[in-house]
Amino acid sequence: MSTNNNQDHDVPKDHPRYESLKYRHDIIEGMKKLIVAEAGLIAHGRGECFDYMLGEKTSEIAKKAIKAAVALLFLAKNPIISVNGNTAALCPRKLVELSKITNAPLEINLFYRKKGRIEAIKKVLENAGAEKILGIDETTMVEIEEISSNRRNVDPNGIKIADVVFVPLEDGDRTEALKKIGKKIIAVDLNPISRTSLWADVTIVDNIVRTLPEMIKIATKLKNTKEKALKNIIETFDNKSNIQASLDAIIQYIKKQKEDAFKILKD
Ligand code: ATP
Repeated sequence: MSTNNNQDHDVPKDHPRYESLKYRHDIIEGMKKLIVAEAGLIAHGRGECFDYMLGEKTSEIAKKAIKAAVALLFLAKNPIISVNGNTAALCPRKLVELSKITNAPLEINLFYRKKGRIEAIKKVLENAGAEKILGIDETTMVEIEEISSNRRNVDPNGIKIADVVFVPLEDGDRTEALKKIGKKIIAVDLNPISRTSLWADVTIVDNIVRTLPEMIKIATKLKNTKEKALKNIIETFDNKSNIQASLDAIIQYIKKQKEDAFKILKD
């Protein structure tokens, strides 16, 4: 959900690309407020491109991954939701809601640690209702040696001890490193063949702005589900074939677009 008042930008609600333009606006505003890094704009553009090829909707394939992700969060002893700038700018309220329903704390973890960014992200999360945010106190942070980027600095009570890490919009290096030290990873990435997507245990190929509301919906349904049934959801989920199905969906969509475009061109 947008944090901004839609009057801030001039896109009329009936514009065919209203949603997409609104989120672009949120990302740009986020950058002005230091929430989003400059490179975050480019990452968003890459995401938009894949979203276009997925028909800009949450597929049944993504919904299967979402269900497995929620089951994994409920079964975790120490789940954590890692928050970066883009996610905080696009859907802070939904992050807070998911955190509350799954009992998975929010930890700010950034690739670009420009001065003032942590504070800006903390503020947007607090305004969205977050009561406790990890990854803020620089003096108590510990390192994960296997990660070479700034993302190595983590909260001792968060990512460090987590068994399941939810990493929306991630860079592949960290996913790989976190996997190597035994953590289970849930990724949300519109690119089904990014390194993050390929390394994660559960890969949700979808736009984070649609994934989070769907996760909250499923979490509300599964909240009181018995451990055995949750385990069964995970055991019957196959991430590899799910990624393959996402790729097939892109291929099918592009084929269909090609046919439709050809009809227009012929006219
Ligand atoms: P990797 O290192 O995993 O191969 P990368 O180098 O492409 O990935 P980044 O440059 O950090 O990683 O890009 C961020 C990723 O986030 C891209 O794969 C992009 O498709 C994805 N992405 C961007 N915006 C969204 C969004 N709103 N929802 C889901 N995924 C997104």
